[in-house]
Amino acid sequence: MNCLKRLFLPVLLGLSLICGCAVNKSSVGGFNMISVSEEKDLGDKFAVEVEKQHKVVRDPEVQAYIDGVGRKLLTGVRKQDFPFTFQVVQDDSVNAFAIPGGHTYVNTGLLKAAASEAELAAVMAHEMNHVVARHSTRQMTQQYGYGLIVSLLLGGQGGELSKIAADLFGKAGGMYYSREMESQADYLGVETMYKAGYNPQGMVSFFRKLDAVEERQPGSIAKYFSSHPETVDRIKDIQQEISKLPPKSWLPDSTQEFARVKAKVKNL
Ligand SMILES: [Zn+2]
Repeated sequence: MNCLKRLFLPVLLGLSLICGCAVNKSSVGGFNMISVSEEKDLGDKFAVEVEKQHKVVRDPEVQAYIDGVGRKLLTGVRKQDFPFTFQVVQDDSVNAFAIPGGHTYVNTGLLKAAASEAELAAVMAHEMNHVVARHSTRQMTQQYGYGLIVSLLLGGQGGELSKIAADLFGKAGGMYYSREMESQADYLGVETMYKAGYNPQGMVSFFRKLDAVEERQPGSIAKYFSSHPETVDRIKDIQQEISKLPPKSWLPDSTQEFARVKAKVKNL
């Protein structure tokens, strides 16, 4: 823990109130009271809790596949401050989430709902860019206060760590990002897909599909949409961004591995 930071805590807290909400879509920098190494440490602690609260799919083919998609996407991110990991968790709700430090989890429900690898990559690229732009630690500092994060880094008290992990990343919980943060994760997600060679139209088609399902059966994919409001506006913004990108040849939208993994998780 940085002692200077503690000394200047009141000043830093004041600054965070002033700067906390501002998000510049095209910049991944910005004020963050938690250092990169503290975030890695916090992320590793949370990963232990998350993996107690969710059932990680231990199938080697599924693991190798999700890791492969994640590694391809990493070639298209702006910054790689964190050692990203990728895992599938057994949960049929359509969702994926990334925790501080880059541990990224994909629900079996997302693999079942995605029609192509490009659609799966779209959601992963969005989640990974919340990490690249360090949204979760900024959000957590605002939500819980810097003092509690410091306490968690020191090990937490009376089950604090597991409670907060459940609130933010548990089956019944969920991290709530600001609309600006969501919009930035979409913006950077499109860029990441483009650079990694995935057709960013996969993001448009997947969001459209989810929006249609939610209209037909309200609440059925509530978890994903509760944290991602204004879907129609988001789709418009994503399309506008894609239209500005030079034409490029893409990786195939789908692969045999995708089909095999999808079939495998259906039977879990
Ligand atoms: Zn998001």
